[in-house]
This record gives sequence, structure tokens and C-alpha cells, in this order.
Amino acid sequence: MTLVAILSGAGISTDSGIPDYRGPQGLWRRDPEAAKLVTYDYYMADPEIRRRSWRMRRDSTTWRAEPNAAHRAIAELDRQPGFAVRVITQNVDGLHQLAGMPGRKVLELHGTARSVTCTRCHARSSMEEALARVEAGEEDPPCQVCGGILKSATVMFGQRLDPVVLGQALAIAKAGEVFIAVGTSLQVHPAASLAGIAAEHGARLIVVNAEPTPYDGQAEEVVREPIGTALPALLKRLRAETAEAGAANEASAGPRSEQ
Ligand code: ZN
Repeated sequence: MTLVAILSGAGISTDSGIPDYRGPQGLWRRDPEAAKLVTYDYYMADPEIRRRSWRMRRDSTTWRAEPNAAHRAIAELDRQPGFAVRVITQNVDGLHQLAGMPGRKVLELHGTARSVTCTRCHARSSMEEALARVEAGEEDPPCQVCGGILKSATVMFGQRLDPVVLGQALAIAKAGEVFIAVGTSLQVHPAASLAGIAAEHGARLIVVNAEPTPYDGQAEEVVREPIGTALPALLKRLRAETAEAGAANEASAGPRSEQ
């Protein structure tokens, strides 16, 4: 069984029409007013920020986005005998799961935009339901359990990553035989450092990204071509190589097993 870890960032979803918000060049880093909508302290302190946040969520293009060929190729690799795939994603769009990856195999470092959570009692419910309330006229819908402030189940600026999710991601980075960083600039830690940790623990590190990353030097292979075509081709090649290696092992094991 070959364990393939995939670390995905905003670049994998741009073909699905979702812009990069959070990355070093992302919209939120360039626009301080937009950044306030996703900064925990502003969000909690100011009802007007929350009303604007709910309008932004309601109008988000994420809800219409479809998984693209790269998301689908990852889910397809996971269905191949001999492969176990784990996705560690910086994205909150849920497109890996929509492409067919089982939810338990996807670690969402920054949470998910498809759920909402109460900041007081931590009850979770669906974003769809919350947006229906916004649509019906509630500009800042409160928690239906305790009346607390609701937010999307994403990690806002000023919030720390879930240590449990991060611990699981670290374990996968250490255990994976292949670690593919796709569509991420590998500049935002701790997600970025997973690539270095994987390489230090013996994984074949492959970087698929339009721009250079700080980990290119540690990578066995760096791919600059567009992700929508490059990733499916790369995963197909990985399948072929693994099948060949498996056949070679069987051939060499044959005579020994007769001794
Ligand atoms: Zn609550």
C-alpha cells in the first residue's frame, strides 16, 4: 500500500472559479477592510462587520463551484487498489469531498465554509440553513441553541488552527511515501512546514505550483504547468510507476519463495 499525502492550497480551486483569499497575494491580505470580515476580534465586536460577513457568504461564488479535473484525479487515485490517499487542505471550499474523497480522508486545516459554528456553545449546523435565514431577512442570525454569535466553521485571522487536525496532518506528513504539495505557495506556516517534514522523513516531495516555493530545493520534482492538466498526468504516472515496481517485486520474490 502506497500512502500518498496531498497538501492542497488555493491554486487547486482557481480552475473551479474560487479566487485566492488567504494566500500571501490573496484578496484578504491586500484589502484591510475585507480582512476585517474574517478577523475574529472585529467579527465578535461589531454587528455591522457580521452583517457584511453574512452578505459576503450569501453572495460567495463557492456555492456554485464544481470540483475540477485535479480534485477528481485525487479522488480517483484513492479508489485505486494499492493506494491510500490523505488530503491535507488549506481550502475551505469542500471541493475535494464533492469530487468523491471520503470526508474522513480530508483534513481541513482552515475548517470549512460549508458549516457554521456557535462562538459560545460550539453547536454546529449547516451553512445552507444559516444562509436561508439570511435570505429570509435575519441579517446576523444567532445560534438557535443558545442565542450566541454564529460564524462560519473556518479558522479566522486571529484564531489558531485546530491542534487535533494539525497533529493528524503532521502524522500523515511523516508517514507518507509520496507528498505532493499542489497549488500552495508554501509560505504560510505551519501548513508549509509539512512539506519539509515529509521530505525529512523520507517522502518523495513533489511540488506542483505556478510560482517557485521555498521547498522547491528539497523536492524530487517541481511541476510548473497548469494544475488542471499537470496533476491528473502526474497521478497517472505515479500509478504506472507503482504498478511496475510492484510487478518487479513479485518477479524477484518468485524464485526466493520456492527456496
Ligand atoms: Zn450556541
